[in-house]
Amino acid sequence: MATINELKESMHSGSSEEIVAEYLERIEKSKLNAFITVAKESAINRAREIDSKGEKGMFSGIPIAIKDNISTKGIQTTCASKILSGYVPPYDAHVIERLKEAGAIIIGKTNMDEFAMGTSTETSFYGPTRNPWDMERVPGGSSGGSAAAVAGGEAPFSLGSDTGGSVRCPASFCGIVGLKPTYGVISRYGLISYANSLEQIGSFATCVRDVTMLFDVIAGHDSRDSTSVDRIDTHLDARTYASALVNDVKGLKIGVPEEYFDEGTDKGVENSVRDAINTLEELGAKSQIVMMPHTKYALSAYYIIAMSEASSNLARFDGMRYGLRTEDSDWHTTFSQVRAAGFGDEVKRRIMLGTYALSAGYHDRYYLKALKIRTLIKQDFELAFKDVDVLIAPTMPYPAFKIGEKIDDPISLYLSDVDTVPVNLAGVPSISVPCGFSGGLPIGMQIIGKHFDEAAILRTAFTFEENTDFHNKTPEGM
Ligand code: GLN
Repeated sequence: MATINELKESMHSGSSEEIVAEYLERIEKSKLNAFITVAKESAINRAREIDSKGEKGMFSGIPIAIKDNISTKGIQTTCASKILSGYVPPYDAHVIERLKEAGAIIIGKTNMDEFAMGTSTETSFYGPTRNPWDMERVPGGSSGGSAAAVAGGEAPFSLGSDTGGSVRCPASFCGIVGLKPTYGVISRYGLISYANSLEQIGSFATCVRDVTMLFDVIAGHDSRDSTSVDRIDTHLDARTYASALVNDVKGLKIGVPEEYFDEGTDKGVENSVRDAINTLEELGAKSQIVMMPHTKYALSAYYIIAMSEASSNLARFDGMRYGLRTEDSDWHTTFSQVRAAGFGDEVKRRIMLGTYALSAGYHDRYYLKALKIRTLIKQDFELAFKDVDVLIAPTMPYPAFKIGEKIDDPISLYLSDVDTVPVNLAGVPSISVPCGFSGGLPIGMQIIGKHFDEAAILRTAFTFEENTDFHNKTPEGM
């Protein structure tokens, strides 16, 4: 599978049009269902334009796949929901503006769990995406299409969003790299909100360098997102994250939170992550156990906060402004009809539970309590980071499960997020990198950093990658 630099190299003798055509052909033949919309015509036209003008941006002529909850001007954006089918945004998200300036070509919009609510990409109105390592299994979620597209060779890199693990989980299940940056580093302008206090746009690629190059292009302040901050490069020599990619972890202090290796963790996953920590120690890092005692409350707090925010964010889908419209009646009837017909079961469940948790009489008992737990979890991270530079843990407690295995049991699906949600509650950065296999399926480990210290996790991930070859393994036939 070609890296971004290899594709740039190949453009010297070939053309962007050839590259784009090759990816489009793979998408056409694919059985993964990784894409909801393929932007064939606009991608080819843009490639021709770049070829004829000889544009020289960072990603000039290189195709990228975009999760379908990121607004793309002129290209349908559905959030994998019936309620938004046919909706074509009149503007680009901030990250899309940045990518276009850098010359990247949007090849299509990827499949996902409806409104990013899920861990398997099975709640999509457009049907499940399949895992390139085993077509009977889920690719993870909610950004399953973006991860499967990269792992299946249908795009060299892609964007996803991570509210409670939606970049790291599919990266782990599909054997690729996925980065969730510090909250606020990337503008959420144009990202259709699910739970806005938790989510960040993140990047997928087959190696740490490509994920970092993509991050470099999309990070930075944007006045249209009041939570976005300027890059805080205290840990970087130059103003690029790529400058952090040094093959050296001598003296690095790794914290190992034992709470992330509890009895629900698959033995193959646990062994691979512990082996990976040993590898880093052989390369000069030191590890120690750290205590994160509030981890066990993270899932309940996360789901209460996420559902509460979702219930308010999704109030805007009323049939008046976007997408689906049923037969007109009075406002209340139309509103109910549109939402009854347009939202899937999981989305409805979350809107109802979120509304309940926010309602008078229950607000203190659920929502406020969850916010208090959130503070305690943040403190767990702050305390741990007094002693260590990064934390290393499994991304997911097990490898990819079978399509259909958990979808009828929401609680068991929610439990899969046990190792990813604390990071979003605290707002810290985390990257998932391939670190082994269990029963032929890829395993990911997450490297978690301090707020705004992406440099440390990128350097650790890069050093691990340079000294191992898990990331070079690809699914058969891909
Ligand atoms: N699985 C989690 C949820 O369903 C996380 C999803 C996400 O990060 N968008 O909420």
